[in-house]
Amino acid sequence: MQKLFMRAVGILLLCFVFLPSLCLANGRVHALNYFQYHVLQENGRNVLRIEIGLDHDNLEYSVHTNQYKPKQLIIDLQNTEIGDIRQDITLDGRLGRYMTFRELERRHMQVMVSLAAQAQPQNYRVYTLKADREARKPFRLVIDVLEPVQSVSSPAQVEGVTGKTIVLDPGHGGSDSGAVGPSGLQEKDVTLAVAQKVRAILQNSGARVVMTREDDRDVYGMNATDQQELQARVNVGTYTPGTQVFLSIHCNSFSSPSAHGTATYYYPKGDADATLAEDLQEALIAAGGLSDRGINEANFYVVKHAAVPAALVELAFISNYNEEGLLGSADFQDKMAMAICRGLGKFFQDTGI
Ligand SMILES: [Zn+2]
Repeated sequence: MQKLFMRAVGILLLCFVFLPSLCLANGRVHALNYFQYHVLQENGRNVLRIEIGLDHDNLEYSVHTNQYKPKQLIIDLQNTEIGDIRQDITLDGRLGRYMTFRELERRHMQVMVSLAAQAQPQNYRVYTLKADREARKPFRLVIDVLEPVQSVSSPAQVEGVTGKTIVLDPGHGGSDSGAVGPSGLQEKDVTLAVAQKVRAILQNSGARVVMTREDDRDVYGMNATDQQELQARVNVGTYTPGTQVFLSIHCNSFSSPSAHGTATYYYPKGDADATLAEDLQEALIAAGGLSDRGINEANFYVVKHAAVPAALVELAFISNYNEEGLLGSADFQDKMAMAICRGLGKFFQDTGI
């Protein structure tokens, strides 16, 4: 009887002493206790290495990106508390801007790294490293941000634009996103990306290019009226000596998501405006292969008030799901940029301007 009793006590003891520790081993909470970042070289590429130390290993984590904030890299850490790490940290700026540590819910941390470039799989790595006693480093979660590989090929060239002066107007910008696609793509980002590609090809072909904006901004300033903003764009052409063509780049949008295709608009100030629109439209259709909505007269402010032949291209419908996908792709942007340059070259040849 006493033996039985002792056995029961023994089993009970086993339960109390060992089981809780087994449970805790799985649900043990990590505390962050170490932080360091530095830039190193790897095969001639700069790498920003961020090391976050934890008080023990077996970390469960997952890595995410956000299509609406493409420069953010997000890492969720399960069973983790912030420990003595600061919540907001400024990074070196060249590869990473800053990072934040947030507790989303109890024992669920989220680390957000704001990168200088888009978070693309080939440009970051997330992994863990064992504790390194010699270097006095604990078990770590490591985030490597790699310098984007520069394309070695120079931009393409077109004929007919050498010595010409062209003003490019990437539609919208800053406080004005322009139209927004069903997946969140903003017109202002597409128009700027395409305009920058057009500029690279034109400059490489010997043309002089001036942009109404070179980054994500309002041209007149915040809180301007539409007319002030559009006149500020026209003024870039007017006050750039020798301007020969004014070209505004946009994406179309319509309430019905089925609307699609490419169109070019002009205001018939003289014969050259229609020729410019025709040459651009023809090249855009040949390159992009979208439905041809033709050239159209329109009372648009910038084409009407520009002092030189002017056109406004609507590359595709950002409100159409398929065309939004195209507008956001580098490949389609490249094709349309090349087409615009060919169209400009043809225009100068056709008109002798
Ligand atoms: Zn627009």
